[in-house]
Amino acid sequence: MGNGVVLAELNMTLRHSACESHKKFRSTPSAAADRLWPGWELLILIIKRQAKFLDFKCLRVASFLWVLTLFINQQAICGDDNRQCLCDKMNGENLILSNTVSWGFFGHRHINYHAVFLLPPQMIPFFKKQIRFLADHATDPDKRRYAVKEEAPRHYIDMDRYGAAADSLPVSWEKAKVEYGEDSLNAHGIAPWWIMVMKGRLVKAFQGGDKDAILKISADIGHYIGDVHVPLHASSNHNGQKTDQHGIHGFWESRLPELFAEKEYDLIIGKAVYLKDPATFIWQRVRESAAAADTVLRLEKALSLAFPPGSRFAYETRNGVVTRQYASSYAAAYHNSLSGMVERRMRQAIFAVASFWYTAWVDAGQPNLSIFAALPAIPPFNPSADDTQFQCGSEHSP
Ligand SMILES: [Zn+2]
Ligand SMILES: [Zn+2]
Repeated sequence: MGNGVVLAELNMTLRHSACESHKKFRSTPSAAADRLWPGWELLILIIKRQAKFLDFKCLRVASFLWVLTLFINQQAICGDDNRQCLCDKMNGENLILSNTVSWGFFGHRHINYHAVFLLPPQMIPFFKKQIRFLADHATDPDKRRYAVKEEAPRHYIDMDRYGAAADSLPVSWEKAKVEYGEDSLNAHGIAPWWIMVMKGRLVKAFQGGDKDAILKISADIGHYIGDVHVPLHASSNHNGQKTDQHGIHGFWESRLPELFAEKEYDLIIGKAVYLKDPATFIWQRVRESAAAADTVLRLEKALSLAFPPGSRFAYETRNGVVTRQYASSYAAAYHNSLSGMVERRMRQAIFAVASFWYTAWVDAGQPNLSIFAALPAIPPFNPSADDTQFQCGSEHSP
């Protein structure tokens, strides 16, 4: 075995240990004390496993890799915006997100699910039959974020980056590109423009009678529309990283709905409407989110000062894994201070999703969907297995 092979093995050992370390951090209450793993423990492990192959040069490289791993590991543990779980980067599989995204599994599922009931009689039999698919696949766009380079900016728009110009951003993507340049637009997020692209695709899918495309695009557009209803998806301070409120993103959009939606929210809403100007409609929703972002941050900041630091977090077991969460008493106080904002935005998201589906169908010439309604429902994939992807951490990026 040459040095190259030994180093490759060492590298794998280090990678594996960093991964284990990350998992350990997320699953152990005393995780903070374990931050230095992989430390001496790891070095001993390497020497035990590789001693007979090591020479001095190899050890030097191994030491470098070890220090590098410690650094990467620390970064992964501390987390930052848009960072993917170290395990994912290394393995490219078993997509576990430490910084999960958007309303979270729970919120997106509920938004797509409830939107179905707002549809007109010509649409509801088909959509209701496939309701499980629409709910199960409500989070597909988030899963693509780590595989498709262009995906991330489609989920948010940092309205505050545009200052006073935020109120007059071109609704047309072509005009926006001329005015700001595509790179600059992508750098700050393109959610409202992307929703209109998806709406165009949905119209085409209806026109083409492509059942699979109708369902897939309906599930996807439901996700993006849901995202722009989250205030922190319209702010560059999307995870409170500028105000020492790291984790507030997931707190607002995942933790609060998970704790309160089923017990307290009324998600039964009237009917979808035809949107004469869907672009202006969605931009209005984006502006509402941007306007609410300051309240989301300010109220949590005030509350955090009133709560002793130790009482803001608690450890809970989910799917057999102990995770650090905002304590339910703290969440209740925050939820209360928001005066129904999360429920309001969730209801508005449901209405918007249904209205976009309906508008796309009308714009496609109201094709007859009854032939699809007669087809069997697409069997659900295993949502409980998928669920784990969204329970790895409480921190989110848009
Ligand atoms: Zn989010
Ligand atoms: Zn998203």
